[in-house]
This record gives sequence, structure tokens and C-alpha cells, in this order.
Amino acid sequence: MTLEGKLLIGQDAVSGSSKPINAINPATNEILEPTYLGGTKAEVERACELAETAFATYCETSLEERAVFLETIASEIEDIGDELIERAMAESGLPKARLEGERGRTCGQLRLFASVVRAGEWLDVRIDPAMPDRQPMPRADLRQRHIGLGPVVVFGASNFPLAFSVAGGDTASALAAGCPVIVKGHSAHPGTSELVGRAVQRAVKACGLPEGTFSLMFGSGSEIGQALVADPRIQAVGFTGSRSGGTALMKTAQSRPQPIPVYAEMSSINPVFLMPEALKARGKQIAEGFVGSLNMGAGQFCTNPGLVIAVKSAELDAFVEAAAEGVKGSAPQTMLTPGIYDAYQQGVGQLSNNSKVREAARGQVGESPNQCQAGLFVTTANDFLNETELQEEVFGSTSLVIECADQDEVKRVAAQLEGQLTITLQMDDGDLQAAKALMPVLERKAGRILANGWPTGVEVCHAMVHGGPYPATSDSRTTSVGSAAIFRFLRPVCYQALPEGLLPEPLKDGNPWQLSRLVDGKREA
Ligand code: NAP
Repeated sequence: MTLEGKLLIGQDAVSGSSKPINAINPATNEILEPTYLGGTKAEVERACELAETAFATYCETSLEERAVFLETIASEIEDIGDELIERAMAESGLPKARLEGERGRTCGQLRLFASVVRAGEWLDVRIDPAMPDRQPMPRADLRQRHIGLGPVVVFGASNFPLAFSVAGGDTASALAAGCPVIVKGHSAHPGTSELVGRAVQRAVKACGLPEGTFSLMFGSGSEIGQALVADPRIQAVGFTGSRSGGTALMKTAQSRPQPIPVYAEMSSINPVFLMPEALKARGKQIAEGFVGSLNMGAGQFCTNPGLVIAVKSAELDAFVEAAAEGVKGSAPQTMLTPGIYDAYQQGVGQLSNNSKVREAARGQVGESPNQCQAGLFVTTANDFLNETELQEEVFGSTSLVIECADQDEVKRVAAQLEGQLTITLQMDDGDLQAAKALMPVLERKAGRILANGWPTGVEVCHAMVHGGPYPATSDSRTTSVGSAAIFRFLRPVCYQALPEGLLPEPLKDGNPWQLSRLVDGKREA
């Protein structure tokens, strides 16, 4: 397909007229065609109007219609074929196998949400039948279901051009919830976004849905992105990116006459606690696993292990030595954008220049543009506790080891941590009591706690939580990965004493949708 460099507003492809955007191949710094002219307030207005109109119909689609729509998007994406992978490689510098895996994950996510929609449990139907004879007061008939919030704006992420972008997790969960979606495509991969956007557009048409069910905008975040979030028809926002971007959107959403939720996934350094017995028994093996996780995707995963915490010991020294060897041998990898590379260089520079931080190792230096040179640094718990900037995310393959005097200091460091997406424990049986003592602190800090694995590689399933207290995300009550993500875009509505003819289908007598319903407090299959 020839890329046209256009915005997709409903079923139309239109030219923008604000600042031009061109993708840059980060492996070569070559500017890629076509140019995408950014949208203006006029396109924001049109996309929001169409989404608002679409909501009335789309939110009342049957379970089957909505599930088929999600499956059709997945098939349309697969049908694009190699062109999608080639464009995404050129725009992100990511290798083919990774992008093919990401495409599989994207389509798998869409199909997972189709199955969730069909099962209908998300409707959470509750029926408390009338009790006209109850004393001293009768009870009216009360019925509850969940409905979509309304049109949702999704900001595509730079680090997952497929799985967290145009038809990624946020879009899939919002569409599953019955919400039309307007995507603000990431400026780093507009061609990939256009290809996927057109696949969604085709699916909307094939399924006979209102055109405003989906639109794709390009343009500056601070202009178009802000205008979308400020528009009164938008009812929720999904975002993955920097803390500054996420907090700017939270501010806008909170300052509206009607504030709306922003589900922003921002920054996390994913601490790894090395427990003493595990270090003694298999420090070298842990070091190997750690370096593998650190280098995955040039460290550009939100779950990258950016912090290692342990009691200072000969075993920890041996771990640092083994990990340093691994880091020294780490091949340079192209980062996603020149901007992300610059931010990485600056972050690593700050660690290198900090007199309280020792450099344990740097990886191999790249010869091509924008290549990440891995890094491993060491500091003491005391210095870490006194310098808040040491907790800042350095987005890339760099990690900081914190040496603690004893397990109490480990606990103090844990208590001082900001909110995280993940916390990892490397532990053996003999560490159980010490790990148990840490658990109450860890549970308050992270959305996912894992033992003897690595935080990178987020399973898309029902039990996953990819969330956590601020600044990992803007709202710790939810997840952006896995089927529970649908609940971010739903709200409950209670129908009191409505005549049968006015009740929505899922709530009608006789259970026409054959849902599992909670009737008078008892689960009916
Ligand atoms: P970003 O700069 O936050 O951009 C993400 C999206 O938000 C882009 O579409 C951007 O628009 C928009 N945006 C940025 N600031 C905004 C604002 N003030 N108001 C409205 N929209 C705004 O993130 P990025 O480009 O992906 O990467 C930059 C840094 O973010 C990285 O170096 C890394 O530190 C961090 N990051 C973290 C994660 C994570 O999961 N933890 C993931 C990705 C990135 P434009 O098109 O105008 O830029």
C-alpha cells in the first residue's frame, strides 16, 4: 500500500495543515517519506464529533458484533503482511523477529478482548428483585450493568509501535468496552500507524459500524494531544510515555469543567531484590539472567530492571563482577529515536558524573547512530536514600546496584521507593522469612511482584497487572495489559423500577444474552 501521509478521520483520509512530521530511521538518521502534516483544531473537532455520534450506536452493539469487530481488526492487520514489519523496522530500529512477535501479540490481544466481550462478565450484571412486601419499607427492583464511558483518546507509545500503539492494548480494551477511539499516533512511527489505522478503518466498514468508531490523528502532543484531551466529548485517556507527558495530560484532564480519568503509564525502574541465600547459591546465574533482561530491546521496556538492591557481601561483589562482564560484552543496539538516545546519554551522563556513583561497566560502543551503550553502576543505600534523582528512570540498558548494610537497610530502601510496575525477588528457600518481611512494603509499591524471573516480558492474560502506584502509572487501581484493562473504560449504571420494555437486553427477565448474573446476591450461571 502506498502511504499517503494523511490523517484518518472516520472513513476519510484527509491532509493536515499544521507542522510536518517525518519518521526518521534511527539506524541511519535517514528521513523517511511521506511527510505527515499535523492535524488542526478543525480535525480534532471533526474526529470528536464523529466519535460522539458513533458512541450511541457502538456502545449498544451486541456482544457478538463487537467481538467480530475486534477479530476483524486482527485479521486486517495480519493481511497487511511484510509491509507492516518492514515499515516498523525502518521507523523504530527494532529487529524483524521482535516486530513479528509484537504483531502476534497485538492480534492476540485483540482476539483476547473479543473472547472477553463474548463472555459478557465485564457487564457485571446484578439484579436485586423488587420486594414489595418488605417491612418497614418495600424495595424497588434494582438492576446494574456496566457501559462504556464514551469516546477515548489513546496516545500511541514509542517503544511498542504495534502492541501499545494504534491498535494496541489501550485501543483494544477501549473498543471492547464499547468506546469509540481517537488515536494520537506517535510521531516516531507515522507510517506504521497509518498502515494499522487503515486496517482498523477497513474493519469498521466491513462490520457496518459508525465511521466515528475510530480515527487516527497526527500532530504535536502539546497542541493536538492537548486539544483532544480538553475536548468535552472525550471521556477517558490512555497513554504510555514520559512522566512529563503523562502528568501534563493529567493536569489538562483534571482542569476541564468535567474532569476525566487519564490512564497514563509513565516511569518505573523495576527494582530487583537479590536475597542473600539466592546470591550465595547462584549469583553468577542470576547475573546472566539480569544482563539478558537489561539488554532486551536496548532496555527500552517499561519493565527494564533499572535497580538492583542487596546486602553488601562477597557474594554481591561476585554478582557485580559477573554482571559487569556481561555488560562489557553487550553489543550496542539502535534506540527507537534520536530523542530517546539523547535522553539516555544524558541520564547515563548524570550517573557517570555523580561522585557518589561508581561505574562498574559500560557496554560496547556503537559505530552507527543512536546506539545504546549498556551501563552498570553501583552506589550505597545511604547515598541512594539521600539523592532522589538516583531514582529517576534512565530509559535504556542501564542499571544501578544499591549496596545495603543489612536487611533492615534493604527494607528502608524499599520503603523509600517510588511506585513501580514491577518488583522482582531473586530468592531461595532460605530467604523466605526475609522475603516475607519485605512483602508488605513491596505490595504497597508495585503492581506486579515476581520471584526468580525477570520483569521484562509481560504476559497478556487475565491475571496480569501492568500498573502500579504513581509515577509508574497515574492510577494504581487498574492495569493497561491483560483482560482486566477493559474496566478502565467502563462505569456502572443502576436501573431502578424500569419497565421491562425500557431495560437493556442484558438486564431483561429471562436472561436473553445468557449471562452469568448475580441475582439477589446469588450467582446464576
Ligand atoms: P513522550 O515524550 O511522553 O511522548 C509520548 C506521546 O505523548 C507523544 O505522542 C507526544 O507527542 C505526547 N506528549 C508528550 N508531551 C506531551 C504534552 N505535554 N502534552 C500532550 N502530549 C504530549 O514519550 P516518548 O516520545 O515515547 O519517549 C520519551 C521518553 O519517555 C523516553 O526517553 C522515556 O524516558 C520515556 N518513556 C517511558 C516509557 C515507559 O513505559 N516507562 C515508554 C516510552 C517512553 P509528540 O508527538 O509531540 O512528541
